[in-house]
Amino acid sequence: MTKKNEKENSLMDKIVSLAKRRGFIFPSSEIYGGFASCYDYGPLGVELKNNVKNLWWQEMIRTQNNIVGLDSAILMSPKIWQASGHLTAGFADELVECKECHKRFRKDHLEEESKTNCPDCGGALNEPRKFNLMMKTFVGPVEDEANITYLRAETCQGIYVNFANVLDSTRVKIPFGIAQIGKAFRNEITPGHFTFRTREFEQMEMQFFIKPHEADKWFNCWKEARMKWYLNLGLKKENLRFKEVAKKDLAHYAKRAVDIEYHFPEPMGWREIEGIHNRGDWDLSTHAKHSGKDLSYFDQDSKEKYIPWIIETSAGADRATLVFLVNAYQVVLGGRTTTTESTKEAEVVLKFDKKLAPIKIAVLPLVKNKEKVVKLTQKIFELLKAKYLTHYDEAGSIGRRYRRQDEIGTPYCLTVDFESLENQDVTVRDRDTMKQKRVKIGELVDYFKEKL
Ligand code: ATP
Repeated sequence: MTKKNEKENSLMDKIVSLAKRRGFIFPSSEIYGGFASCYDYGPLGVELKNNVKNLWWQEMIRTQNNIVGLDSAILMSPKIWQASGHLTAGFADELVECKECHKRFRKDHLEEESKTNCPDCGGALNEPRKFNLMMKTFVGPVEDEANITYLRAETCQGIYVNFANVLDSTRVKIPFGIAQIGKAFRNEITPGHFTFRTREFEQMEMQFFIKPHEADKWFNCWKEARMKWYLNLGLKKENLRFKEVAKKDLAHYAKRAVDIEYHFPEPMGWREIEGIHNRGDWDLSTHAKHSGKDLSYFDQDSKEKYIPWIIETSAGADRATLVFLVNAYQVVLGGRTTTTESTKEAEVVLKFDKKLAPIKIAVLPLVKNKEKVVKLTQKIFELLKAKYLTHYDEAGSIGRRYRRQDEIGTPYCLTVDFESLENQDVTVRDRDTMKQKRVKIGELVDYFKEKL
């Protein structure tokens, strides 16, 4: 491993450690020794992930005229997975096993890293075999063949099988989209890299139904729109790129696929965070064939009847949350805190976009032993917490408290001091500029309305 890799590798370790220490992400089932590759979102993590999902929903549904939402069930008829190809080779990865240590790896992952032997012990690998990723379960009390079903492996199938329901119950007209956020499960062979690849994860998917000959136009439109979403939420441009998926690597249903990739700290490097896919008419055609239901669309204006094509945007909520966390992580050398206690030690600041930050404002009494200051601070806390997720913190020196808030990415700290009692104003400190400004208490709500 190169020196650079060692340094950046430890950067990822530092982020994982911060995520646990400050309550963003915990390893699952920890008191029982953990449960491989499963994670729980802590008090700050759940806020961050909810912000990611809400901002996606806002962008993909609320600000659009022609996209509607859906929340379909995780458990569905196994016939859906038969029709979609998930139970056959279509949803199987090639797995190789080390003859020495018996660890298993995805063949395509080893190929990407040009490895022909076991990456762990160097042992020889056996012939690849197909491994289906669907998570099997039983419905009802009898565990037999007739009761087998699967936890969904992607949210989009729930959208395809509701295509006719949405058409019949709403006034949508092509081109239109159906979007949903929800859990998906895959029995991944090699989960890892923290929450990047897990067996249970959440997807944010939108299926856009179009006229077949308009596929290129809509594909490019959504590809650009999705990249813009990440950029607008502060991801660094130099860490983002498009990657055209080679024809030979396309999924069985895809006519074209472009991944949005992010450059994670080494050794991860460039990795997919979202896929934009032209799925042609494959999904509606296959479900029409297997269900016997007509899933075509009748265009009232042109009097044409056709199976719509689909452009899909498929993002991972957990991957996006991880990307925003990694992107926000900055180490600043000393002097950010403003009291005499400030040191020249490295200080961590999570520079989240304000819309993503889990806590928006921290309200801090300068001293905790002056009743009038504490009372006024608590009054301000009550006022602001009704509108924004606000922290009240009176423990430790003011410098220490600023540091604690910087470390979780709180955009604004608000300090109440003796002058506040006289002048009815407070100091507002900006996380990024560190500038401090006196703002009248009566004007705080309007002040933050503009900023947050
Ligand atoms: P990969 O090549 O990384 O396995 P994929 O191409 O199979 O991903 P898709 O089926 O296109 O992924 O899923 C769309 C999105 O869902 C991905 O871009 C990713 O953000 C998310 N995703 C897929 N699998 C996982 C997983 N195991 N853990 C976390 N997120 C995932």
